[in-house]
Amino acid sequence: MNCIFCKIIAGEIPANLLVDNNDLVAFPDLNPQAPTHILIVPKRHVENAAELAEVQPSALAELFKAAKKLSVDLNLPGYRTVFNTGEAAGQSVFNAHLHLLGGRAFGWPPG
Ligand SMILES: [Zn+2]
Repeated sequence: MNCIFCKIIAGEIPANLLVDNNDLVAFPDLNPQAPTHILIVPKRHVENAAELAEVQPSALAELFKAAKKLSVDLNLPGYRTVFNTGEAAGQSVFNAHLHLLGGRAFGWPPG
C-alpha cells in the first residue's frame, strides 16, 4: 500500500512521534499552518473520519482524547481540530487524520 502515513506508522519513514499508542500516532505537520500543527493518525488505515466512525468508532474518540492531552501538554489555551474529507476540502493524504492546530488566534469561518 502506498500510504505515507502507514509507512510512518510502520517505521519505514522517520517521523517525530509525539504519541505512539495502540490506537494512533501523532507527529508535527511538515507544512504547519499554526505554531502548533500536529497530525493525529489512527493506526487502522481508513480513508476518512466517517469511515473510521463506521469501522472503529472508539478509535475516532481516541483521536480527540489525544488532541486534548496534547493541548494540555503543550499549554494551549485553546485549539482547533479539523478533518478534511475529500480533495475538494483540502484532504491530501487519504488516510484519516485529525489536524490539531493551536498557538495563534483563529478566524471564523475557517478559510
Ligand atoms: Zn494508511
